[in-house]
Amino acid sequence: MNIYFDNASTTKPSPSVVEDICKSMQEDWYNPSSQYEPARLVALKLDKARKQIADYINCNPDEIYFTSGATEANNWAIYNNIVQNDSFTNLVIDTIEHPSVFNQYKRIRQENLVHTISIPLYHLSIDKIELILKEFMKAHKYSDTLLVSVSLVNNETGIINNCIEEIAQITHDLNGYCHVDATQALTHIPIDVDKLGIDYLSSSFHKYGGVKGIGFLYCRRGCPLSPMLIGGHQENNKRAGTENTPYIIAMGNQIERLSKTEKQRWNKMNELSEYLQSSVFSTYDSHHCPIKRNGTDYELSPYIHSYTIEGIKATDLLTLLALDGIYCSAGSACSSGENKPSRILKNLDLSEDEAKSTIRISLCENNTFEEIDYFCKRLTYHIINLQHSK
Ligand code: PMP
Repeated sequence: MNIYFDNASTTKPSPSVVEDICKSMQEDWYNPSSQYEPARLVALKLDKARKQIADYINCNPDEIYFTSGATEANNWAIYNNIVQNDSFTNLVIDTIEHPSVFNQYKRIRQENLVHTISIPLYHLSIDKIELILKEFMKAHKYSDTLLVSVSLVNNETGIINNCIEEIAQITHDLNGYCHVDATQALTHIPIDVDKLGIDYLSSSFHKYGGVKGIGFLYCRRGCPLSPMLIGGHQENNKRAGTENTPYIIAMGNQIERLSKTEKQRWNKMNELSEYLQSSVFSTYDSHHCPIKRNGTDYELSPYIHSYTIEGIKATDLLTLLALDGIYCSAGSACSSGENKPSRILKNLDLSEDEAKSTIRISLCENNTFEEIDYFCKRLTYHIINLQHSK
């Protein structure tokens, strides 16, 4: 039996996506920039995908720019914009950002490009955030433009930032722009960019039954956006290169399909999530092996669970679970190869040992109660054995 509990790292492409891609590869292989009829039809399909995505997040189709994924979209909105646009002079990010945001912040600091701070936006009250941002801008004489980058759902813990609207408002009051990394949120929770009042949003298709290497950046009309790639006229002259038509078409269709089942999926995920949490808590011996879910002081996504199992090395546990055919990860897949305790878990005040004893279970709609039962049975078995082997 194979149980896949690493959906925050990537999801299995859904059969409809695979079907759409295969069909499109056979039918839509013309270059959408060419002028003859079949190529024009492909260009129309790209327009349709842009509209499907725009309808879903409530923006205009010309505000959607296709990218190779969220890493590129994040780099575009932040590093590219800052390097190529003199008016951006201040950058604020959340302390628990994904490396595709955090490492840009580090680089921008090292290169001394603009004034920067990293603050726990997920944790602070709105009043406190307002105060810090105002002081930050005042210290820099309100010079030009502020860019604030914050994620909607944290990839290691599932913490949901439910103050995005307020953060965007404060940022706008300071004449700034707000970027949201929605990679772990899009299609899981409703996103209305207009209501949230945000200016940029990043997403990767492979996080919702799609494929890797494709995603998009939303950029509100009128907001600065320096070109990402120079060359042809594609993506409104902002990202040159012949479009990955089959993937884009499949992404549009998948988003439209998922938009119709958002409520049902959310309900199902909440049931699975509650069942997972209560099963994990009831399968351990609380006297000998305390286990806790991280981030419970915040609103949590039902898709991502982070558990710290005291005294158990996550890497040992994951190896044993993998031998059972159960796949999950330590922290996030992007940092688990590093053998360093996760920066995000340390930010949540976990000690180094606790961070090294933490596993991430990330679910999707296709997971079942039976899989959770089997996982918990094996989890208990391995915890007992690992304790005895010490
Ligand atoms: N942001 C977040 C929150 C993510 O979880 C990920 C993927 N782990 C990314 C950005 C980067 O996505 P990709 O690797 O598809 O570019």
